[in-house]
This record gives sequence, structure tokens and C-alpha cells, in this order.
Amino acid sequence: MAVPSMSLEQEINPWEAQSARFEFAARKLNLDPGLWKVLSTPAREIIVHFPVHMDNGSIEMFTGFRVQHSVARGPGKGGIRYAPDVSLDEVRALASWMTWKCAVVNIPFGGAKGGIICDPKKMSQGELERMTRRYTSEIIEFIGPEKDVPAPDMNTNEQTMAWIMDTYSMHMRQTVTSVVTGKPLNIGGSRGRREATGRGIKVICDESMRYLNMNVEGCRVIVQGFGNVGSNAARLMHEAGYKIIGIAEFDGGLYNPNGIDIHQLLEYRSRNNTILGFSGAEAMPSDEVIESECEILIPAAMENVITSRNADRIKARVVVEGANGPTTAVADEILAEKRIFVMPDILSNAGGVTASYFEWVQDRQGYFWKEAIINEQLEQILRDSFEDVTRYAEAHNVNNRIAAYMLAIDRVAFTIKQRGIYA
Ligand code: GLU
Repeated sequence: MAVPSMSLEQEINPWEAQSARFEFAARKLNLDPGLWKVLSTPAREIIVHFPVHMDNGSIEMFTGFRVQHSVARGPGKGGIRYAPDVSLDEVRALASWMTWKCAVVNIPFGGAKGGIICDPKKMSQGELERMTRRYTSEIIEFIGPEKDVPAPDMNTNEQTMAWIMDTYSMHMRQTVTSVVTGKPLNIGGSRGRREATGRGIKVICDESMRYLNMNVEGCRVIVQGFGNVGSNAARLMHEAGYKIIGIAEFDGGLYNPNGIDIHQLLEYRSRNNTILGFSGAEAMPSDEVIESECEILIPAAMENVITSRNADRIKARVVVEGANGPTTAVADEILAEKRIFVMPDILSNAGGVTASYFEWVQDRQGYFWKEAIINEQLEQILRDSFEDVTRYAEAHNVNNRIAAYMLAIDRVAFTIKQRGIYA
């Protein structure tokens, strides 16, 4: 795939990363020029600036976004992230990735994403609650069970979703659990949602091993990021016989060629609030961990972890993307030259939104399923989608990422054509 030469700044702009893949896939599909314009433009972008009372009595202004890229196949769906470097371009890209992700696993949602520019690590629970509630009230007419359904993302969690649900419900004068997913269990959350993204990654790793005739037993795995996604993927894979030899965190990494006991590491982390200093592995700088020899590398933290700067030093046989956008479009080409088998984010991390779909259905039914049913249906959807993507890649002679985009774009374009353009 030819990517025009670009600066690093351009390379790591998530909207550029999204557009490069979209354009390549759309061209391959011979996409109608009108539909091309529709799908490369977010349908709605909301920017809100709002005040929050801080604990010290001062007032702080915050900026929040919610972008709905497409609502053609159903309500907007996608997380809300809190971070100091959140930007409109990033939220835009993440919203469009949600459109493609929901289409790849064929669930009835469009794509959306939200974010607030803030530093949650420096804020108290009270400040976070007031900020979340005010942000919710600012975007209230644009969200809802049939309009746009937020969920957790980076630095947001079940508690954040509970506050959003409560704020929305107060305005509606009735409890509306299905306005957000990723809630605590007792207020309409779903069993299995918390581990779902990690579980989906494990399914994609299992399927990749089967597809490439490789063995799970003893397969060496490196996980970058040990948040909700990375830690659950590592735990489930450790339990299934994979050998987790490296963990790379933002503040340092761990390496043990004989495998790290993930249960012990989780226990250590819950006591010490960090993975650093764990005695069951050696300390190693994170970039060295990522570049170590292994069968599977799982970047599960954030965007732009594999770029033109380090892609040629990646020694994994398979990359399974747990984060959204961890690989830049330029790095895609380098990995392709090295014949690394890449399972793209819009498939690999779709377990989260698939369980969110189950949560939304359960909330609307008022009937809650057993965890075994949820896990079984989740695994089935991901296995089928793996099959769809790899078949598509073989049939069209493209890599898995482009195949996933083509499949998704085709599904969304078909829906728009069928619905027609309202005038
Ligand atoms: N934030 C997650 C993602 O990027 C989950 C979205 C959702 O469940 O709606 O896929």
C-alpha cells in the first residue's frame, strides 16, 4: 500500500492514519464517489466548553467532544476518554474506527467517540464526578439509547458510566440504563463486559495460531499496556497455556523468558499500584520489551506505539492490536515487508463493543443473561468475524487490515444506499 512520504507529526495524526487506510480500501472497493464523500466525513461533531467547581473552590473550564461518525447502521456507539492530549482529530478518528469496528463484527451500531481534555490522575473523585455530570448535561440531547450510546475508554470506567447514566436519568425523570454500556453489574451492567476486550483478543490470538498452524502451548507473548485490556488478555492467555514473557508499561517493563505468572503479577499490582519491582521477572525498558523476540505482540495501550521509528525492529511473528490505532499507516508497510501477520484493531479489540451490544440488548429487555452465554456468543461472533476478514483478505489479495476496512466500508455503504439520501 503506497503511503505518501510524510512527517512524523502527520504520520502519528490518528485522523490521517484512519484516512490512509480508508482511502486505500475504498479505492480497492471501487467505492461510489458520493458514498466516499459521505463515509469520509463525520456526521456530527460536538464541542463543549464548560465550567467545573474544583475542590479548592476555584472554577476550571474544560473542553469536551462527542463525534458521531455514522449512524447509518444504528445508534452511535463508542467510548469516552479522559486525557490531557485528547483532540478533535483523535476523537474523529476513534469515532470512525467505531463505525468500521461495529460493521466488521456486524452489530447494529454506527460509530461515535467522546473525550474530555483533562488530567484525571490529578483530579479527585469529586472533581471527576462533577466534570462527568456537567459534560453529560452539555451533550444530553445528542445521546440516548436510540441515538448514541457511550461506554468506557481510556481513563474512564464503570463508575464514570454510572454517573452518566444517573445524570441522563435525572434529566429524563426515569431510570434509563441503556444510555451507556460498561456500567456496574447492579445497575444494568452485563456480566463479562469488563473482561470482554481481553477475551476477544485471546480469541483472535487462538484463531491466528490455528490459521498459521502454530501452537498455543508455549507460544511466547508480549503485552504492551497492562490496563483493563492488556491485563485481562494476559490473564486469559496465561490461563490458556500461552507464555507471557514480557509486559511493557508506560513507566517500565518486565521480562522473563520462562513466562510471567500473571496471577501473581496482578496480585502484586493490586498491592503496590505498579508492576515495577515484581520479583517474578527482570526489569527491562519498555521499548526493549516491545522489540524482543516473540510469537505474538499485543499493543494494548494507546495509539502510535508501532511507527516508522521502531517497526523494523519488531520481531514478533503476529501482531494483535488491543488498542485503537497502535500502528501507523507507514509502519503497516514495514510490518508487511517483514511478513508479520497483523490482526487489526477494528477486529481484534471488538470484543468490548460486542459485549456492550449484549449489555444494551439486556437493558432494553430487562432480562440478564448468564456469563457463560455472553462469553460463548462473544467468542462465536469474533471467530466468525476472523473467518470473514481472513477470507476477504485471501479473495482480494490484501492484508487483514485492508480486508477488515473493505468489509466494513462495503457493509456501511450498502446500508446507506438501501436507506437512500434524505432530502
Ligand atoms: N472504548 C471501547 C472501544 O474502543 C468500547 C466501546 C463500546 O463498548 O462502545 O472499542
